[in-house]
Amino acid sequence: MEIQLLPLAEKKPRIEDESQLAFGKQFTDRMFVMEYDAGKGWHSPRIQPYGPFAIDPAAMVFHYSQEIFEGLKAFRRPDGAIALFRPRDNIRRFNRSATRMCMPEVDEDFFLQALKQLVKLERDWVPRSEGTSLYIRPTMIGVEAALGVRPSSKYLCYIILSPVGAYYKGGLSPVKIWISDEYVRVSPGGTGEAKTGGNYAASLRAAMEATEKGFDQVLWLDAVHRKYVEEVGSMNICFLYDGKLVTSPLKGTILDGITRRSILTLVRELGVEVEERALSVDEILDGAESGRLTEAFGTGTAVVVSPVGTVTYRDRTVAMGGGQAGELTLKLYETLTGIQCGKIPDPHGWVEIL
Ligand SMILES: *Cc1c(COP(=O)(O)O)cnc(C)c1O
Repeated sequence: MEIQLLPLAEKKPRIEDESQLAFGKQFTDRMFVMEYDAGKGWHSPRIQPYGPFAIDPAAMVFHYSQEIFEGLKAFRRPDGAIALFRPRDNIRRFNRSATRMCMPEVDEDFFLQALKQLVKLERDWVPRSEGTSLYIRPTMIGVEAALGVRPSSKYLCYIILSPVGAYYKGGLSPVKIWISDEYVRVSPGGTGEAKTGGNYAASLRAAMEATEKGFDQVLWLDAVHRKYVEEVGSMNICFLYDGKLVTSPLKGTILDGITRRSILTLVRELGVEVEERALSVDEILDGAESGRLTEAFGTGTAVVVSPVGTVTYRDRTVAMGGGQAGELTLKLYETLTGIQCGKIPDPHGWVEIL
């Protein structure tokens, strides 16, 4: 398939002061779009000016939520080159989400080529200061105009780009976590493993209540026992427990995070043992008090690593490692961001230069 390049009439004004960049508020001049029709497959791939779509009010995504997305970043390196971090892993996960939601897969090589071409055209939008990046959001929605619950026969797939500021300004700041004993994110057999909009809609209520109570994030427990840790907000979570890195196993209810995967590799290389098992609430609360649990952090593309300061369950609050970002947490943050922006060698071939 040939990607058509549509003309750009005018460029948007840009935020010159990169310290003013927020997350996902501003989008670049262009976007990639392609369409799918049952019987015909993907067609009409193009890079066009960023702007609204005209979508029928009956489009199935608005009623039955057939939607998937991805999130990855492009970084500007000291030599000016633009780098992507493990982009194929994101495209493969996009396809796994598509399969779960009865949506068509994209061709991995073609989609990567389209993504790279878009980022190349928009390379001026990749910010320059430390900790900044260009966030890339591939999305797919079911757009057939019809009511009735079944998979759509038409889809729109697009990629938009957003320059994002440094998440941490002046050191990694630990977050206050609230363990929800009322709400769950997903249950076994559900769609927890897919990056699909409905999972996030379902999480809003708990997040809102957590914010009202003065917390930063919700820690989700498993839906069956309401006892074992699954994820925190929309991040995977890791604990340093008895000197081992403990993180929830991929059993269908949590997302297979690419940051999680990278962290596990780095941790093993540092000689720290990894245990993929679900920690219980009691192990967290008692472990933090007894000193068996020394560090905890969330992992995800947006933040890379987010240290947990305190955890609250019902009326009990415990501090993780004195409420400060731990030594391993900091080391992992430095290493992963160092590899991403080219300050540290990349022995695993995670970085792809445009
Ligand atoms: C995206 C996401 C993550 C993190 O995945 P990364 O590939 O590391 O960005 C974790 N949990 C949920 C629920 C997510 O949506």
